[in-house]
Amino acid sequence: MTNIPFNKPYLHGRELVYIADAVRSGKISGDGIFTKKCHEYFELEFGFKKALLTTSCTDALEMAAILLNIKPGDEVILPSFTFVSTANAFVLRGAKLVFADSCDDNPNISPAAIESLVTPKTKAIVVVHYAGVACDMDTIVNIANQHRIPIVEDAAQAIDSYYKDIPLGSIGTFGAFSFHETKNIISGEGGMLAINDTQYTSRAEVIREKGTNRSSFFRGEVDKYGWVDIGSSFLPSELIAAYLYAQLENLRVIQNRRKAIWEAYHTGLRSLADKGNFELPNIPFGATNNAHMFYLVCKSVDERSSLIAYLKSKGVHAVFHYIALHTSQFFLTQTDGRALPNCDRFSDCLVRLPMYYELLDDEVDKVIDVIHEFFTK
Ligand SMILES: *Cc1c(COP(=O)(O)O)cnc(C)c1O
Repeated sequence: MTNIPFNKPYLHGRELVYIADAVRSGKISGDGIFTKKCHEYFELEFGFKKALLTTSCTDALEMAAILLNIKPGDEVILPSFTFVSTANAFVLRGAKLVFADSCDDNPNISPAAIESLVTPKTKAIVVVHYAGVACDMDTIVNIANQHRIPIVEDAAQAIDSYYKDIPLGSIGTFGAFSFHETKNIISGEGGMLAINDTQYTSRAEVIREKGTNRSSFFRGEVDKYGWVDIGSSFLPSELIAAYLYAQLENLRVIQNRRKAIWEAYHTGLRSLADKGNFELPNIPFGATNNAHMFYLVCKSVDERSSLIAYLKSKGVHAVFHYIALHTSQFFLTQTDGRALPNCDRFSDCLVRLPMYYELLDDEVDKVIDVIHEFFTK
């Protein structure tokens, strides 16, 4: 029986060549030539004012929280249907988490929910572009501007995705990206902070380099370097940047293949959705699809569990996604008890299908066939 995993990391082109180049260059710590190439690529291709590679999206979010001076007692509005790092980065600074519900027709944060949760203590609005599909940024930016609250985009899944032609990650004060092996463009572990307001650039460089002004020292701007601020070690090694750069050179090819897989799923499953068996992903007005993920929303948690089990019995690994953070063990003692029904529904009913660059057409067809079998048996 063929076995179709949920995800598979892959080599696309010159990853191993560039890693060998980095080793031969005699420098494999951070901020060498491959890191520079990646920074330039992101700034040119997506218009981020400043791109800084980090070792993860988690790191990039932590940098954003430090840069915004989040302090104990500050409130941060964020979705509950997200990965723990979106929340942890702010909890580490002592923030009070204020979870907002998802929209009813897609898992992204609801602008109406954000609006109802803003208080004078709100110090950041964090949005997550779930599955790489843009949140309703016009409305969210309006709310944020009205109250002068900075926006952080958790764009971990959102590389090469757009809102009204504007690249995601370039709209908020900061955008945080991930190159974890489960994302579209990968380097094992890896991430990036996109800085869209240049007043934060020099402090970001310091925080990323353990609180030292090492970056300006190497540019010859200061004649010695030392400890000037808080910080940590957020920069990745050149080995990671070398792998990442090889992927970036093939971004179009990778994206085209993923989009073809996404479209094949969509076409193959539409008749089942039309009959009311499940919902297909909704790409709202103004948003693009970067084919990060293909998911279905089942009618109940039980049906989802049976579907996952049936797929598994046929060698197909489909997986559910986030357990809503407002229901997590960590948050239980802090919750204000507010219900987030849309978020609960996506937690209970959403299932993700295998999606990776090397997934073959035959394998996509097989997944589609097995899902048809499940709903017609
Ligand atoms: C993957 C992911 C992260 C974490 O990314 P890392 O690079 O593994 O730290 C954070 N937020 C979201 C929404 C993610 O999908």
